[in-house]
This record gives sequence, structure tokens and C-alpha cells, in this order.
Amino acid sequence: MAGPEENIALFDMDGTLCDFDKAMEESLEKIRSPEEEPYTGKPEEAPKHIKERKELIMSSRNWWSTMPKFQIGWDILEAAKEAGFKIHILTQGPRRNPSGWKGKKVWVDRNLGPDTDITMTRDKGLVYGKVLVDDYPEYIKRWLQWRERALVIMPAGKNNNEFKHPNVIRYDGTNLEEVKEAMKKAYERKISEEVKY
Ligand SMILES: [Mg+2]
Repeated sequence: MAGPEENIALFDMDGTLCDFDKAMEESLEKIRSPEEEPYTGKPEEAPKHIKERKELIMSSRNWWSTMPKFQIGWDILEAAKEAGFKIHILTQGPRRNPSGWKGKKVWVDRNLGPDTDITMTRDKGLVYGKVLVDDYPEYIKRWLQWRERALVIMPAGKNNNEFKHPNVIRYDGTNLEEVKEAMKKAYERKISEEVKY
């Protein structure tokens, strides 16, 4: 059984290892009417019919299990393995789509192997790791709440270009050396130095 001293790197899926945005954009495009302009605004401000289409798309297990890889997340994955970390997937289970939970597990089996550890949760802050790799600022802040000196690597995305935090390195495909260096230091650090009791 994994002890708390174990060097675990937690990896998010959507926007980290999987290209959710690209998959969604392509799927929406396929069902767009020829008379209709493509929707390019913020997802939360989308009109009702676009939101409903997205829900339909996300209700397919196959859609989740065939999602394309997001390369910058895979660069970080390689760096984490190289530093010696044990890889653990930490992903949010979709709120309304149980088939998404299944599809995500199938994706992990296909792309990382069926022996990969995986946690699907509605609260990432509950899960232990020495490093978190995640693109979403709200989950990052929640996770860091109890781990004030832990390291976070944040794959660049259009929703996090303004987020800054002293523990967070934003990786955009150009600063891999910085990521590798930080991973190495995190690996050598004692867990008691980063967890707040
Ligand atoms: Mg994400």
C-alpha cells in the first residue's frame, strides 16, 4: 500500500493529457447547421441550444474514450516519469454524465495502460500527491489549500493565461527545462516540508 512518503505526481485529464477543447469544437462543428455561425464565445455564456448539444456530446462514452492527446501534458508526463514520480490520474467525474466516468477509464486503459492508478472525484483537494499537474486555476487553488509548499505544473490553456501563483509553473511547450528542474527538487523534498497540519 502506498505510504504518504511516496513520490506521486497527480495528472488531470481534460486540458492536461486530453484535448477536450479540440474534441468538443470538432464535435460541435459536425452538428452545426449550414445557416448557423460557429459559436466562439465563452462556454459559460453559450446559448441554451449549444449547451444542450454539449451535454448530448458528453453523454457518449465513446466520445470520452477516443479523445485526442494534448501534447504539452504528455511532455510534462515524460518529465515526471524521468524524475522518478509514480503517475496517478486525478480527474473530475462529469456531474451529469455517468458514461463520462466509464469513458475516461477506457481512455486511461488505452493510452496509459490498465494498471494506471486513477481517482475520479468531485473534489481534487482530497487527494494526496507531491506534484499536481492541472490546467484549471480553481482546482489548483483548492488542492494547494492544504499543501502550501507543494509544486503545481499548469499546462497552458486559454483559460489560465492570467493565473499566477508562487507554487505554480505554467508550461507552454517552451520551458521544459524549468519544469524538469522543479520536478527534481520536488522529488528530493521531504513531505513534511510541504504539508500544512
Ligand atoms: Mg483540466
